[in-house]
Amino acid sequence: MKYIFVTGGVLSGLGKGIATSSIGLLLKRCGYKVTAIKIDPYLNCDAGTMNPYEHGEVFVLHDGGEVDLDLGNYERFLDTELSSEHNITTGKVYLSVIDRERKGDYLGKTVQIIPHIVNEIKTSITRVAVSAGADVCMVEMGGTVGDIESMPFLEAARQMHMEHGPENVIFVHTTLIPIMGVVGEQKTKPTQHSVKELRSIGIQPNIIVGRCSEPLDASTKEKISLFCNVRPEAVISAHDLKNTYKVPLLLQEQNVVGIIHGLLRMKEMPCDMEPWSDFVDRFESSEGVVRIAIVGKYTGLKDSYISHYKAFEHAGAECGVNVELEWIDAPEAEHDFEKEKRVMLSRLAECHGILVPGGFGSRGTRGKLEAVRFARENDVPFLGICLGLQIAVTEFARNVMGLEKANSTEFDPDTPHPVVDILPEQLRVKNKGGTMRLGAQKSIIRPGTLAYRLYGKEVIYERHRHRYEINPAMIESIERAGWVFSAVSDDGIKMEIGELPGKLFHIGSQFHPEFLSHPNRPAPLFLGLVRAAVEFKEREAGS
Ligand code: GLN
Repeated sequence: MKYIFVTGGVLSGLGKGIATSSIGLLLKRCGYKVTAIKIDPYLNCDAGTMNPYEHGEVFVLHDGGEVDLDLGNYERFLDTELSSEHNITTGKVYLSVIDRERKGDYLGKTVQIIPHIVNEIKTSITRVAVSAGADVCMVEMGGTVGDIESMPFLEAARQMHMEHGPENVIFVHTTLIPIMGVVGEQKTKPTQHSVKELRSIGIQPNIIVGRCSEPLDASTKEKISLFCNVRPEAVISAHDLKNTYKVPLLLQEQNVVGIIHGLLRMKEMPCDMEPWSDFVDRFESSEGVVRIAIVGKYTGLKDSYISHYKAFEHAGAECGVNVELEWIDAPEAEHDFEKEKRVMLSRLAECHGILVPGGFGSRGTRGKLEAVRFARENDVPFLGICLGLQIAVTEFARNVMGLEKANSTEFDPDTPHPVVDILPEQLRVKNKGGTMRLGAQKSIIRPGTLAYRLYGKEVIYERHRHRYEINPAMIESIERAGWVFSAVSDDGIKMEIGELPGKLFHIGSQFHPEFLSHPNRPAPLFLGLVRAAVEFKEREAGS
């Protein structure tokens, strides 16, 4: 087993996740079996209880793990399926050690960070790598070198390097090379400091990936090489590119694979990046623009919806069109709602499609209901995801069925028309962490529906994350009014996809299709929305 630890220096947000995914992809395209682990040094056991506004999107895995958004990058780049074990957090590590202490597993011993916590980290990493049956395990260290909370993880990595040997464990350090002054000099001092910090804890990086707005000059590379004790060819320029899909190709140009093969004494195998560069070519040669509005509540931080963003890129490339996203914070103002609503509607009128994504809590619900109504009444292509489906059904009940007070019991527990209600099994649930209906669930699609045309098959597995559902007691009356539930859960009770026939595209899913979208394999519901948006735009131009 070969381990590649990716650390970050100077500051966060340098694209460590993309570097990790890109190196993993290159090795995979050489024919190696690659897996990836993300280490998050926070005390939460998982990302499920964290606000997307603070931490970015909560990514959901097949096994129901609610994890850091970087695992989404790994899955998309490596086209693989990971489990929640691939996200190791301080919370998980401590929980397991303390559990064992209570059971008496360390009886008589003083339980300490070294060796017990560090051993637990090492065991978790190797267990995941071995059970994935990987040749190479990428391990991305969250946080920045020098943070107190990441110390035990770096110590574990240092020990693994010693125990497994330098031909089995290497370190890739990503840093920032700022450009300063009128002459635009590339500054290496922050990199030197962060490498010094790393070396003070016993880790010598083998490869340095320098993030910079411009390609690194030869003199910059030499300087970093000299001061950081890394060979000059192993100082890699990761300068700004038009899109992150090009990063693996940029790394390949600089022979990252050859360097890694040499360091890890792996058999040199040719790296076939053709399918990936085909996608990049299609993505870059897309012509024209369709504008799609995302009406949500975490629109201020794009990372909150990163998988949506990516799913639109995949679908756009497939259709040969650029998808421009219009982020709209769903209005909810107490006083000036009508004014805010007008502003939103005038922005929606400039769009060719509307998406209402998932969410929790009532803020923004009024605005989202108005957005769905606008879509339905003007036949603007619409996709609702999770909460978005629940809102679409509520809108239909209120404005088509005339049930003015129809609502989800999440927002109005006393509504006379609970079109959306809590899942019965959720009534017993008290803890918030990891207790929703989560992960991949089987759905059966009804032939002859839009959903069937999009998926082209009857049985699908998509990822879920919710506590509420379309109220089974109201399904009959909703369908009698013209709405169609086109996919249901395996037991036939939970509504998984709903659509409004006779429209260009008006559909919603209880699951989250964005988590299974890949380059070259876009999510059918996103692809459908983008195609419909293209058609809508053409119709508009023709009329
Ligand atoms: N709040 C809704 C529920 O729990 C929707 C969840 C979501 O959109 N992920 O069912």
